[in-house]
Amino acid sequence: MPYLDERAGLASILAIAKRGVVDEFRNRLVERHDGTPLSLPAFEAIPHGRARQHVVAIDGSNIYEPIPGALPCTEAGLVSLGIVVIDTVKLFSLPRLPASHAVNPRELKDTEKGQVMGTMLPGRNAARRDGASPRQWFREMIDRELRDVRFGDESFAETLEALLVNNRKISCPAVDCTKRQVVVTGPDAMSECPACGLPILLADGLRIHEQFDETKPAVECHSRFRDTLEILALMNILRYLVKTREGRDAIANTAFVLDGSLAAFGTIAVLARAVHDELRRIQKCLHGERIELLVMSGVKSGPFVEHFSELDRAPEPDRRIPAGRYYLPDNSYVRENIVAGGPDEPGPWSELTYFGRPIFLKTVQDQRLVLNLAQPEADPPLTEALPPRALADALATAGPLGVGAHQFQPLRRVHAQAAIPLRAGTDLIRSLVPRVGS
Ligand SMILES: [Zn+2]
Repeated sequence: MPYLDERAGLASILAIAKRGVVDEFRNRLVERHDGTPLSLPAFEAIPHGRARQHVVAIDGSNIYEPIPGALPCTEAGLVSLGIVVIDTVKLFSLPRLPASHAVNPRELKDTEKGQVMGTMLPGRNAARRDGASPRQWFREMIDRELRDVRFGDESFAETLEALLVNNRKISCPAVDCTKRQVVVTGPDAMSECPACGLPILLADGLRIHEQFDETKPAVECHSRFRDTLEILALMNILRYLVKTREGRDAIANTAFVLDGSLAAFGTIAVLARAVHDELRRIQKCLHGERIELLVMSGVKSGPFVEHFSELDRAPEPDRRIPAGRYYLPDNSYVRENIVAGGPDEPGPWSELTYFGRPIFLKTVQDQRLVLNLAQPEADPPLTEALPPRALADALATAGPLGVGAHQFQPLRRVHAQAAIPLRAGTDLIRSLVPRVGS
């Protein structure tokens, strides 16, 4: 790490080059793509599908900051969750400016309804006055939050309980307890570790606390909780809607859109399979009424976005793939071109962490959208399954929703609601500054 204002010299580079280790490294490195234009996979014309009349977009946001002046370094974060319901019929009927395709922002607002919630969570060294450690406080806070939030008729805690039904055993969350296989119970019952007596909370089933290392920033834990809220919001709404005739009609007319990959990473990866299984159960309830569940996401960054952009480059940027086309990569395409496998992940890509599969869409207005689409009817790995049944509807819905430079309108709208303004959020955390003499 350089000191401020210190310029790095070339001595170290020369010393490395002199040893010949760079040539040796190059010769031993596995062969990779050499920079020549990529061969273009078979992009197909967008099939005829039914665009959904509503989009429910879900997006979480978080910021994490030290509290100024607090010693030892004490940190806290804010986590928010936003939901926006967009009337796409109304949206597409709005007049657009000829050059930018933009619509009047005030009219745009009239096409949507939104709701936002948020909370504050403890980070490194943020112990509670009654002696609870930061980790203990974090566990209790996220558990309480899940009990308090609901969009449908059940709390997020009840939704989580349903998802964890086959994964209720965790190691005891107490740092100094070695008991394995303690059982997580539902929101209404309380269990204890039989060895140390620690109350086991429902949120412990997410195992986010296992990453809560009291000597490091807890930003990763806060982000995992944000991801959890996004997933639970989706499932909470779907589980509610599927129960009634009116709700199922609403599902038939709606695309549910998340931000990022349709996946659950790290300790909460257990949710990926649980969500897939629950989507399958919901799809079965819809089958008699010939309704296709449409759950998708927009991916804004990462290897798929970079690869799509690279494919579209030669001979000039953004022009190689014709407008109005899509490509559904399978597992071998992903492994050969986008995410290499390895000894740690020898199986098919995405098998354990994803509940959706990637789609590259070049919209009619020439935006590149990387989407993920849930495929409840197929068994994982989804990239080895037949094309999803909801594919045509997903493309028909997403296609007209590309805006600006490769942006996905529903996510831009929900982000505008959920995003925590950095300045205001930071001010809120700074307001925790300890008062002198208190
Ligand atoms: Zn214990």
